[in-house]
Amino acid sequence: MPHIASGLTESEQLALQREFRRLMKALPAPLDETDKKNLKRAFDLGLEAHAKQRRKSGEPYFFHPIEVARICVVEIGLGPTAAVCALLHDVVEDTDVTMEDIKNEFGDKIGHIVDGLTKLDGLYNVPSEQAENFKKVLSTLVEDVRVVLIKIADRLHNMRTIAPMPKHKQLSIAAETDYIYAPLAHRLGLYNIKSELQDIILRIQEPETYEEIEQKLTEGDLQRKRYIREFIKPLKEKLDELGFDYRIVGRPKSISSIYNKVKKKQVPFEEIYDLFAIRIILNVPAEKEKSACWLVYSILTETHQPIPERLKDWITTPKSNGYESLHTTVIGPKGRFVEIQIRTERMDEIAERGFAAHWKYKNVNTQQYIYENWLDNIRDMLDDTHKDALEFLSDFRTNLYAEELYVFTPKGDLKVMPKGATALDFAFAIHTDIGYHSSAIKINNKLVPMGYKLQNGDQVEIITNRNQKPNEEWLRMTVTGKARAKIRTALKDSKKKQSEDGMEKLERKLKGMKLDLEENVDMIAKHFGYNSRLDLYYDIAIEHFDLVHLKELEIESGKVVIATRQLPRTSVTDTEPSTSPALGKDMVQPRISIGGEDAEQYKYALATCCNPVIGDDIFAYVTSNAGVKIHRINCPNATHLMASYGYRVQKAEWVTSGNVQSVVNLKITGVDSGPGVIERVTNKISSGLGINIRSLSIEGREGYFEGKVSLVVSNKNQLNMVIRSLKNLQGISSVYREN
Ligand code: MN
Repeated sequence: MPHIASGLTESEQLALQREFRRLMKALPAPLDETDKKNLKRAFDLGLEAHAKQRRKSGEPYFFHPIEVARICVVEIGLGPTAAVCALLHDVVEDTDVTMEDIKNEFGDKIGHIVDGLTKLDGLYNVPSEQAENFKKVLSTLVEDVRVVLIKIADRLHNMRTIAPMPKHKQLSIAAETDYIYAPLAHRLGLYNIKSELQDIILRIQEPETYEEIEQKLTEGDLQRKRYIREFIKPLKEKLDELGFDYRIVGRPKSISSIYNKVKKKQVPFEEIYDLFAIRIILNVPAEKEKSACWLVYSILTETHQPIPERLKDWITTPKSNGYESLHTTVIGPKGRFVEIQIRTERMDEIAERGFAAHWKYKNVNTQQYIYENWLDNIRDMLDDTHKDALEFLSDFRTNLYAEELYVFTPKGDLKVMPKGATALDFAFAIHTDIGYHSSAIKINNKLVPMGYKLQNGDQVEIITNRNQKPNEEWLRMTVTGKARAKIRTALKDSKKKQSEDGMEKLERKLKGMKLDLEENVDMIAKHFGYNSRLDLYYDIAIEHFDLVHLKELEIESGKVVIATRQLPRTSVTDTEPSTSPALGKDMVQPRISIGGEDAEQYKYALATCCNPVIGDDIFAYVTSNAGVKIHRINCPNATHLMASYGYRVQKAEWVTSGNVQSVVNLKITGVDSGPGVIERVTNKISSGLGINIRSLSIEGREGYFEGKVSLVVSNKNQLNMVIRSLKNLQGISSVYREN
């Protein structure tokens, strides 16, 4: 008898050893010596380290890691390394054993995985903290997916044994599981685990509904079994006759999936519970899989009417988590629907065990690239440093549940994209460089806008141009994490480059004023209300900041000082003339209330930097010498004005609702320029909508064009109508208001 770890009774220790032996037996034999040694040492270490801990139920804590290891092996199909890591997964978190100890004892590989598991442990009350943590773990996922698989096993066991926990704790664990672990299990193809998690979540969140469905299911059980038996009888005879090696299993629907259907489709419970489901699993060699499955399909549909729209062929094009199967629904006796899945043993194992089983069959007729694709996508999302953790998590979740569609390259290669992805997303999915330089896109040989939403089966051709580069607008035309991350990085780089120009300009100017750049720039930025010198440089470069304003600075012995008594006198927009030159004499000034009072009309003017029209959200800005200017809330100058001269900003509202004419500038981009476009645009605006065009220019290159239209509109509704109808014109990709 080995020594008994203090804190455990002899019989408890024996029970733990029994569980461990059960785990060892579940592992695929023969185990190599290192694995055997590591497993034994992990068991001894865990036994000792957790000896004094107990679970809420009162049983020794170490039962939990052993059971997690068993789930990894039996239910997920992982091997001995994962089992060792699972045995150790709570050791560092909960006991005196350190990460160092683990690495010394078991080597770097196991150390690395256990490290990842340790980081992810525990519940986080602050969502951002939880998200930050989760992001960390995902970076481990792209290196070794086992971290996440073991974590899912850990969560599954905790959910299975949640009953002794206080109710509020159960609810918060359920919520976290629902938010991230169930979707993750889904994405990794662990369908059984996902359903079980969701069932437990439902039992915690809505115990009464859960029990009701459960009871109804048990009540109808016998009857359902009898029906299925009758249904499959002729099918069995036929399959036997053809000499198939097969099994047919009834497929009870999970309680949570029934609940979701009732809730989502608003159908009565009976209708769903009446839905029968079976799975036909064939044992055939790899090369005959596809034809065998379709043969069974044709046998089945000879006797039963199929519902065509319910046919799903996941064999020809597997789902991106590797799922393969042929689905159909037929009308059975008494007019009832029977859902049927046809697949092979190999497909079944992948469906049950997901990612892990996929590895086992890596070399057999699989679509490894689909995983690679997905992992690439996660890597790209992780690279996107501009996003905060919460945003990341929500993007990641969308990605977990995103359905996919299948599109083709001009050479006929299949590419899996998430549903909702655009043509431009596709360009970035092919290659970052192709994305950067996309100038026009053809779908099935026809030019389309870059923001075109991909459809199943589209053949996509990207036309590139070395001079093309990403602009802000591209963010509105992409949805995938990869494309958006790359575009953001490119925009940031170009801002940086432009800022360098701005810095040089400022440096030259300051030299003339005998001021040193480095010594004064932060003071200058602060004086003009910029958060960073980079922002100041950038505004100088794009001429949003006029260096003339440097004259306002107070200088004492070669240094800029902050004016303490004197308020800054002018702002960027102060130098505008007081009446907008865009407005002719015949145009009436709209009436506006400022600070809650109807203002005298000669006292204010519409700012020309953003050209507000009636209906826009606006504010008033009191300039020092040019009266009051009315800006749009989303004017590019607004943030700067409000941040630096908040005391000069007043609330403003439109009083006039009638016919006051304002000039607005629209920017239009599209494909397939040529005389047709100008004509279509002018026709739509002038004849179609009866609106005056003041100017229109369109510039095209290689099938892509950009244009500017200056129009006179009475209010925002009219403007929106113009934008909407232009967007609907053939060949137009985007229409937006300038500034
Ligand atoms: Mn645990």
